[in-house]
Amino acid sequence: MTDLTTLLSKTTHSHQELVQLLSVTSTEDTAQILDAALQKKASTLGRKVYLRGLIELTNHCSKNCYYCGIRAANKNVTRYTLTDEEVLDCADFAWKQGFGSLVIQSGELSGTAFTAQIEGLLHKIHQHTKNELTITLSCGEQSLDTYKRWFKAGAERYLLRIETTNKALYQQIHPHDTHHTWESRIEALQNLRLAGYQVGTGVMIGLPGQSISDLAGDIGFFRSMDVDMVGMGPYIEHADTPMFEKAQLLWPASERFRMALLMIAVLRLNMPWINMAASTALETLDPLGRQKGILAGANVVMPNLTPVTNRKNYQLYNNKPNLDKDAALSTISLQKVLDAIGETICFNEAGNSQHFSRRQQQE
Ligand code: SAM
Ligand code: SF4
Repeated sequence: MTDLTTLLSKTTHSHQELVQLLSVTSTEDTAQILDAALQKKASTLGRKVYLRGLIELTNHCSKNCYYCGIRAANKNVTRYTLTDEEVLDCADFAWKQGFGSLVIQSGELSGTAFTAQIEGLLHKIHQHTKNELTITLSCGEQSLDTYKRWFKAGAERYLLRIETTNKALYQQIHPHDTHHTWESRIEALQNLRLAGYQVGTGVMIGLPGQSISDLAGDIGFFRSMDVDMVGMGPYIEHADTPMFEKAQLLWPASERFRMALLMIAVLRLNMPWINMAASTALETLDPLGRQKGILAGANVVMPNLTPVTNRKNYQLYNNKPNLDKDAALSTISLQKVLDAIGETICFNEAGNSQHFSRRQQQE
């Protein structure tokens, strides 16, 4: 077995080496890996953080992922869709606060009305903000044609998590029907690349039945897909979902949190130029989760701009944080927190993936 210091000096790791890195258990070894990732980030991207204002457009969803609180079959959810005016208010706030960028996230819907709604919103936001905000979409699996239409209307980045790259585990956490196949998820990721987006994916960490080897495989997948962005975070149970039955099989929350930080750090060592978000789920398991994610190698934070009245209805998992936090106050406190740990928020910058621009220069 290679010693940790030697492993950390490598720029790429084999599957076995990834397993070794993700298998450390002591506080000292974990800290050594996180420190190496922070140094890697500092020497490539710098100690910079980009903001994306998160707008949770609608909690209507046609799918029934076993882990997700807003799955179609959950009758305890009050469903909503933001009006175009509400979305424009959020965009206006992000623009005036100098966020530089927005993420529009939603349940997965298909059909011409939804496609047209997103397309119309993209035009309206760009017009209102004088094209000064870049827009990421995270609206699930769509046809190549729809991805192209939204790209043409001004979306530049797309986030679609593979959730887990272990196909058998993917099948265990989704219904067995044609709407929830691992193959269609992969095809959608390939189509996003074809349509021209900066492509982001990610996984949940600490799913029941997930192994360290699975997580190492996830990092290998991100590398082989040459993705531009990754958003990954701990799996957190939701009482109104089928997967809640397996809650007793889960790693303790503190371990899921530590593993999520390790995954961010090990991925940063292997893909130094990608954008990586410190997820909201990290903050759910630890009040300092976001800054700890940034110190482990993440460089993106997504403050929630969804109107406070709707946020409680977009609960993917139990105890989602900041349900009633004012977005302006959150930005001030975020800035203070990041200043204190030596990170600078890049206001009024798009913060595009440098991995993407470097690949484009090579092509
Ligand atoms: N509907 C789109 C999709 O599934 O790609 C985008 C929105 S979906 C709510 C965004 C992400 O939330 C999913 O990719 C999933 O990883 C995450 N998520 C859902 N339920 C979760 C849970 N219980 N714990 C942690 N993350 C969860
Ligand atoms: Fe719908 Fe996305 Fe939740 Fe699955 S993860 S149920 S597609 S919102």
